[in-house]
Amino acid sequence: MSTAKSPHIALFPSAGMGHLIPYFRLALMLAKRNCVVTLITAQPTVSAAESDHISLFLRHNPEINHIELQLTPSSQQADSTPVDPFFLQFDLISRSIHLLGPLLSSSSPPFSVLFVDFTLLATTAPIAKDLHLPIYVVSTTSVQFLSLVAYTPVLTSNPTEFNNASTEVKIPGSPPMAMSSLPPALLDPNHIFTSCIIVNAQALPGAEGILMNTFEWFHINTECSQQRQGPLESYHIPQDGDHFYQSWLENQPSESVVYISFGNRTGMSRDQVRELEKGLENAQWRFCWNLKATKVDKDDCEDVTDILSDTFLKGTKNKGVIIRGWADQQEILAHPAIGGFMSHCGWNSVMEAAWQGVPILAWPQHGDQKLNAKVVEEAGLGLWERDWDWGVDRIVKGEEIERKIVELMTDEKVRERARKVREEARKAVESGGGSDRVINNVINSVMVPF
Ligand code: UDP
Ligand code: UDP
Repeated sequence: MSTAKSPHIALFPSAGMGHLIPYFRLALMLAKRNCVVTLITAQPTVSAAESDHISLFLRHNPEINHIELQLTPSSQQADSTPVDPFFLQFDLISRSIHLLGPLLSSSSPPFSVLFVDFTLLATTAPIAKDLHLPIYVVSTTSVQFLSLVAYTPVLTSNPTEFNNASTEVKIPGSPPMAMSSLPPALLDPNHIFTSCIIVNAQALPGAEGILMNTFEWFHINTECSQQRQGPLESYHIPQDGDHFYQSWLENQPSESVVYISFGNRTGMSRDQVRELEKGLENAQWRFCWNLKATKVDKDDCEDVTDILSDTFLKGTKNKGVIIRGWADQQEILAHPAIGGFMSHCGWNSVMEAAWQGVPILAWPQHGDQKLNAKVVEEAGLGLWERDWDWGVDRIVKGEEIERKIVELMTDEKVRERARKVREEARKAVESGGGSDRVINNVINSVMVPF
């Protein structure tokens, strides 16, 4: 009879909460199955949320080991065009990657496998190869967006054809994608986002596999033969202290509150905030608004009264709560008072809404979010008004927002379907479900023989 000892798994996430939270979930799923798990994080982080949550996570889960990769400071010119600080961080991590090899090779017990973010694949793959470590990608987006990403080197190799593609692009194994749903930066081969995608997509064939945070049932329209899918279990990041919004939610009727959030790296313009105020006030549903005014949380120092108008604050008194700073989104979505979620459709938010069966009103802002919104719509988990376009491209009027909020909160068909989505998500993480099988298969494939 052959026996094997538990693998030692290195998890290396990239920048931003949306890239970190899935790794927390995966770390615990692996540790629960007796793997030794080490989380590698790049320091310093871009946002305060990242450093706070890394500390909280490690404090509450002492069985998870931690290694820090110290970044070399950026040589970015002060006068250069402003670039998304999270993209810059992807680049910075890649440029400090020579430090990773020694960290990995000096570990005891030795590592058996490396799980990395897609944005770090190209630079970590040669290091893993030298150390004979199999490498897996942990995807933080939808299957649809990942398919686009994987095919980007082919699309951009013929820029004229790609730029002139009238309405859709065709990608093998995926339904046609509307050109208007692709992140506009993708049409610019010199954009840091596009060059990052191309170089990492070219490295994909060297990975043993790709772990997707989703479940098969949710992707009715896509062939998923090459990916290993399994939703990450809902892990609730422990927070310190009580939350005022929690006690407010306790006093609201069931399914009467719209939760509004655009993730951790989208600050809404003042003009758009004004219109959202109008929409919320006139829709007359209760609301819980996770309000962020800047891309990076450290820069978001204004008070609620500096951002929101007096008229709105007075007119909606007792009808809603405004959260500044970090909100415990999973706790909010799990609350029975929540009846709908106005969301930018970051993939983690989509999966969290699916897990809790909360209908989504999709309002994609940038990146993968339009393709994610389409998945939400097709799975029946919510509504998407395509006319709203990207967050940066137009100001959506208060009346349009009002109309959609009412539609979201009164659409019984979507609500019923959302309950079904919740049921299917939970089936997938049960013992023997899709998620459980995928994780166990990966562990078995990297098991160390005695
Ligand atoms: N999140 C949260 N509280 C906040 C902002 C974000 O809990 O105030 C969590 C949210 O639940 C999700 C992640 O941060 O797990 C954001 O990831 P997502 O993919 O939805 O969007 P991104 O922030 O990457 O745009
Ligand atoms: N939760 C957790 N760890 C888990 C699964 C769930 O902390 O492994 C959290 C989850 O995100 C939610 C709360 O605990 O905020 C209750 O979730 P659960 O799925 O247990 O119950 P339900 O959502 O069905 O009420």
